[in-house]
Amino acid sequence: MITLRKPKVVILGAGYGGLMTTVRLQKMIGVNEADIVLVNKNDYHYETTWLHEASAGTLHHDRVRYDIRDVIDRSKVEFVEDTALEINREEKKVILEKGEISYDYLVVALGGEPETFGIKGLKEYAFGIVNVNSSRQLREHIEYQFATYNMEEEKKDERLAIVVGGAGFTGIEFLGELTNRIPELCHEYDVDFHKVKIICVEAAPTVLPGFDPELVQYAVSQLERKGVEFLIGTAIKECTPNGILVAKGDEEPREIKAGTVVWAAGVRGNSIIEKSGFEAMRGRVKVEKNLRAPGHDDIFIIGDSSLFINEEINRPYPPTAQIAMQQGELCARNLAALIREKKELEEFKPDIKGTVCSLGEDDAIGVVYGKKLTGTKASFMKKVIDNRSLFMIGGVPLVMKKGKFKFF
Ligand code: FAD
Ligand code: NAD
Repeated sequence: MITLRKPKVVILGAGYGGLMTTVRLQKMIGVNEADIVLVNKNDYHYETTWLHEASAGTLHHDRVRYDIRDVIDRSKVEFVEDTALEINREEKKVILEKGEISYDYLVVALGGEPETFGIKGLKEYAFGIVNVNSSRQLREHIEYQFATYNMEEEKKDERLAIVVGGAGFTGIEFLGELTNRIPELCHEYDVDFHKVKIICVEAAPTVLPGFDPELVQYAVSQLERKGVEFLIGTAIKECTPNGILVAKGDEEPREIKAGTVVWAAGVRGNSIIEKSGFEAMRGRVKVEKNLRAPGHDDIFIIGDSSLFINEEINRPYPPTAQIAMQQGELCARNLAALIREKKELEEFKPDIKGTVCSLGEDDAIGVVYGKKLTGTKASFMKKVIDNRSLFMIGGVPLVMKKGKFKFF
């Protein structure tokens, strides 16, 4: 009797792309058709899109994460809690911190990392909004600065200065939460609100470059009203233990003293991509239309570590959860096709429904299906989007457990 070996699918990363691939594939594939292994460095998934809330302290970090085992079908998917270090494409295996794992088909969904553009001091002294632990560290650092300020005999006002580098969506969403949190912190730690400084430094000539100018104006005036000072057309040149050096154009850099510097000025692909020898641009692999890495019929790369070109403008789509989840859905269908030895794979066609940028719990801006929204309507829509992403992965039970229901 001949027993055919089942193909082994290894999915690296249980973020939006990897988890979506897993939950869709487990529904499509029977136990006898393939072995599915999901590898993630923690036993929980976190909602990256909510990390600005955990970072500011407006949402507890446990609210942004949930147990991966709660959403996978353990009769079909083996979960391995480990950190991937490198992909050996020739030997079709992944080197993990605690061992190695071979694959027939591999999905790389390891997300992105902060892009520091080689700017001196950022890695050492700036905080990032990257994962649950970095968010906790940032939140606790800000609280520590407030607590320490009061205990010092000689008051150092710069302790209460917070600089946010980058006025992209991450920077703006963090500022929205932070401006809601600061009055609470002032109350909790007996600090005069007027002593606190929040400065946002943006290199481009505008906040949220490329977004609707009317909505950008709304966001800027709302945040300015809550105390944010914007330095536009100004780049961070260096980060030091005492703050940052900034410059406008060719001007001499000047120092801004700050007890907290947050770097929110862009992402690049996971460093494993370059370490494993893939051809990449800022750590992201320009994938084929069926989401496979060029020259690799057995490797899919999705989410922030991939680069997919929008042919209408001949530029990459921005790395978003919206895209990562849609890629996960397609990746599962294409894996199922390969497992069933079908030759034709589907091509990825992003369906961009819009973009909503929150400005705190009760305010937002957005364009949804071409319609502009501001204020509570936009904020309502943001929570619908947040709940929808839970629903897509874990259905109604996950929405009931982790969803956002405080709509107004
Ligand atoms: P991720 O969701 O980041 O998941 C990567 C997973 O891989 C994680 O579980 C991580 O632990 C794991 N991992 C990483 N390295 C390893 C390793 N070496 N070994 C094992 N596991 C590893 N996009 C939107 O569309 N809408 C939004 O509103 C939005 N808001 C955002 C708000 C913030 C504050 C930020 C930072 C981003 C936001 N984004 C938003 C962008 C979005 O979060 C990302 O594009 C999305 O998370 C990418 O999904 P992914 O699956 O590629 O990676
Ligand atoms: P981004 O690349 O979108 O924005 C980074 C900003 O930092 C840019 O405006 C850039 O000009 C600025 N910058 C770069 N170098 C600088 C320097 N030296 N000094 C000062 N400013 C500098 O990055 P992001 O905001 O982290 O977003 C990453 C991805 O996640 C994007 O694709 C974004 O669309 C997505 N995202 C989406 C949402 C949402 O939809 N609500 C929220 C957050 C992030």
